[in-house]
Amino acid sequence: MQMLILLKIIIMKAKNLFFPTLREDPSEAEVISHKLMIKSGLIRKVASGVYNWLPLGVKILRKVENIVREEMNSFGGQEVLMPMVQPGELWKETERWQKYGKELLVFQDRHEREFCLGPTHEEVITDLLRREVKSHKQLPVTLYQIQTKFRDEIRPRFGVMRSREFLMKDAYSFDLTKENLDLSYKNMKEAYVKIFDRLGLDYRVVKADTGEIGGSDSEEIHVLADTGEDLLVFSNESDFASNVELMLEEGQDPQSLKGKPSPDGKGTLELKKGIEVGHIFKLGTKYSESMNFKIQVENENKFLEMGCYGIGISRIVAAAIEQNNDEKGIIWPEALAPFNVCIIEVNPKNDQKVSNQCEELYKELSNQGFDVLWDNRDQGPGVKFSDMELIGIPNIVTISKKTIENNHFEFRTREEEQGVHLSLNELLTKIKG
Ligand code: ATP
Ligand code: MG
Repeated sequence: MQMLILLKIIIMKAKNLFFPTLREDPSEAEVISHKLMIKSGLIRKVASGVYNWLPLGVKILRKVENIVREEMNSFGGQEVLMPMVQPGELWKETERWQKYGKELLVFQDRHEREFCLGPTHEEVITDLLRREVKSHKQLPVTLYQIQTKFRDEIRPRFGVMRSREFLMKDAYSFDLTKENLDLSYKNMKEAYVKIFDRLGLDYRVVKADTGEIGGSDSEEIHVLADTGEDLLVFSNESDFASNVELMLEEGQDPQSLKGKPSPDGKGTLELKKGIEVGHIFKLGTKYSESMNFKIQVENENKFLEMGCYGIGISRIVAAAIEQNNDEKGIIWPEALAPFNVCIIEVNPKNDQKVSNQCEELYKELSNQGFDVLWDNRDQGPGVKFSDMELIGIPNIVTISKKTIENNHFEFRTREEEQGVHLSLNELLTKIKG
């Protein structure tokens, strides 16, 4: 007996997709990623540092999230969801209510109780686990979430790159000993390398300052881009890489490091700019001590060893664009592209055969696992090409009366100027890369 599995394909037609593209450069944007995110209809500003994400933008965010989620789950991280609204008492326990500064947006509820919008979740997670973890048998535990953060940045800028409200993946590990924390940290770092490899970005892991949050070891992940706000210093021969902040004496000019011997004795130093997209910390017992989270092991009370690990989900979208663009628009790495392929229908309405072939190809590509957009808008081909190049779809197939007559498809990648003529099989092979 034959089993028929019918998969319902939802056909995404450009006519029905809400993606308001612009031809002019928006005046409010200083950097290329911000300009292109507005022009390609990914985001719209609501207030300073606060944005709407439109359908195409959300599609890209979800692609980033999925990769992050898969890699977090695959090494044993468990997903939770903590609230954005956090009680002031918890922040007073760690004294960050005062120390965190004005980036912490605080407010009172109707009973005049104090709250803040969470810029990070060390307090909430430590409070959760100190109530639940009573035995070392419950350890180690690593929990993560993908959630909205709020930081009242003094100068929100560059669109979602430095916004006030943004999406972050934040993870927290709890261990009994320093050696075990080292292991949790190492596992997390490996997961980060897998994530940024899969995202297809040119990045570096660099030594970092432990800053506000406090603790011992810390490294940052930076996407390399000339517009980055951080200066990174590397050895030209070894793995040595550091945020320049860590290497400077007071008043020293960063450029003076160029060409100096690398601290690990291998090679000389070079400078590059980067955008911080991830940060991993060993916090040690800083929060477990201030919030009194300890468990008894062999007559001894031990404070938990904690690590925390962030990824700027929304900043990654901007950083990817900052690194991958040309005068026509965005050039998405395949893993982040909102659609892998777009089918441009030349002169829709004119010819039923053209529409039929667009639909057939759409289904074929969808069945093979590609995300496809069918541009069936009543626009000239020029407008369609410009829009698809602006939003950065990596593969462009054109179907017209002529291509049908000649029994081929016209194909080109986002970066190629000239199309080639391909049979269906050749086309599928090309797109599979
Ligand atoms: P920065 O130095 O850029 O202000 P941070 O060190 O304060 O960032 P973390 O506390 O390490 O940030 O937060 C984890 C990640 O969240 C960062 O690596 C970054 O990718 C992202 N992030 C932080 N602040 C913002 C922001 N204002 N807008 C967008 N993403 C942000
Ligand atoms: Mg940081």
